[in-house]
Amino acid sequence: MKTLTLLQPESFAYSDTEKPSSLLPNEVLVKVHKIGICGTDYHAFWGRQPFFQYPRILGHELGVEVIAIGSEVTEVTTGQKCAVEPYLNCGKCWACERDLGNCCENLQVMGVHTDGGMREYIKVPAHKLHVSDKLNYEQLALVETLGIGAHAVERANVQSNDLVLVVGAGPIGLSVLEFVKLRGAKVAVVDRNIQRLDFCLEHKKADASIIANDQTVEQILEVFGGKMPTVVLDATGSPASMHQSFNYLAAGGRLVFVGLYQGDYQFNDPSFHKRELTIMGSRNSKPNNFKEIIAAMETGELSVDSWISHRITFEEVAEQLPKLYTEPSLVKAIISWE
Ligand SMILES: [Zn+2]
Ligand SMILES: [Zn+2]
Repeated sequence: MKTLTLLQPESFAYSDTEKPSSLLPNEVLVKVHKIGICGTDYHAFWGRQPFFQYPRILGHELGVEVIAIGSEVTEVTTGQKCAVEPYLNCGKCWACERDLGNCCENLQVMGVHTDGGMREYIKVPAHKLHVSDKLNYEQLALVETLGIGAHAVERANVQSNDLVLVVGAGPIGLSVLEFVKLRGAKVAVVDRNIQRLDFCLEHKKADASIIANDQTVEQILEVFGGKMPTVVLDATGSPASMHQSFNYLAAGGRLVFVGLYQGDYQFNDPSFHKRELTIMGSRNSKPNNFKEIIAAMETGELSVDSWISHRITFEEVAEQLPKLYTEPSLVKAIISWE
């Protein structure tokens, strides 16, 4: 079967590998139909993904078809279309014991810590597959990215009367916006990139857009009728932005870091106490998020077709992936086999 391996930073190689054969009782063999390309993939390519080991087969945003099932599999049957939950948790640690598989102490993310889906077939534990008979493979490939937003909005416990600011209008910021809107809250998005902001407004992903500059606070107050936000979700992973986000909250506000950076975070304690803030991290997503997202996409309540800005074939990945990264019109790129 065709396989694409990232040998080392900036070096892809196509090869012919053995199609997986023997399945464990709880395993499923799936055919990969569509693959979403994510920030992690670009960072891995450029050698900027911390703790990343090479060689690695990338691909963790997958729309797949069930080809064969292990002897004890009851969750899926052959021919079914599925999204893949790529977070392989141990099921035994203290986090897993408390239903926090997304924060498992031994977490292995497919396509990041273990080999992923940039190949024709892959074996997946049955309980990591989420079936939909209605969605197409492209939609299924977007479920994982959407999960990041769904989980973050769940962490923030966004209510319809919240005033919400989403910082960062890239794919993760967009996925956060989708779920804030579903909860009926007023939401504004801030970014430095005007094209990204225009995309959010044009596709009705936010009620207002704010260009990040030295007047950001004034713009926030204007958008929310003189009030500061009750929830801020920062999807930038930029330390400068994350330090600013702390200043955007009203009393009782919740700050959720969806993006992360490799460093220490500092804040002014009196300013934190005075406003009685809550600061939260949000990591990956949980199985229930996959189920809810698929249900919302099936009813049409959630539509992300407008996200797909680029479609490339599997054969084009090695050449096109580096170029896509600097493409100004990039929102989301999807890989097809055909
Ligand atoms: Zn991703
Ligand atoms: Zn665990």
